Amino acid sequence: MEARKKIMCPSSKAQPGAQLLGVRQDDGTVAILPQPLRIDEAFVETANAVAPAEQRFRFTNKCVESGCMQWTGTRCGVADKVLSVLDQLPVVEALPECGIRPQCRWFGQNGPVACRACAFVITHTTEAEWDTQNQGV
Ligand code: SF4
Repeated sequence: MEARKKIMCPSSKAQPGAQLLGVRQDDGTVAILPQPLRIDEAFVETANAVAPAEQRFRFTNKCVESGCMQWTGTRCGVADKVLSVLDQLPVVEALPECGIRPQCRWFGQNGPVACRACAFVITHTTEAEWDTQNQGV
């Protein structure tokens, strides 16, 4: 029997064992790395020393589905939320070279259009918005 493919979250938290997926640029967009880099405790500690690492970097880790508050029950709510404002984002013609595409939750769920929006996602921001919404603030 074929093993179930591991699906990767492209907007995960900075924690040992996760992989660095992208770096925020001066213009606010995220440069996706062609190959993600595994991070360790020292990286997490250093990156969080000034501000939450998720404000400046994107990380990827295994999608935990119902273990994540962004999971709707059948799919990732973040990807759908981002794509709902795609018409407000600059047009991106070429998809970034991305080492996790075959396993990416967002790509698997929404296809290439997810990659066009991907560079505009800052994990810390989406999580803060989500927390605000769910606290009824
Ligand atoms: S949405 Fe596209 S560019 Fe972003 S992590 Fe997934 S496959 Fe890579």
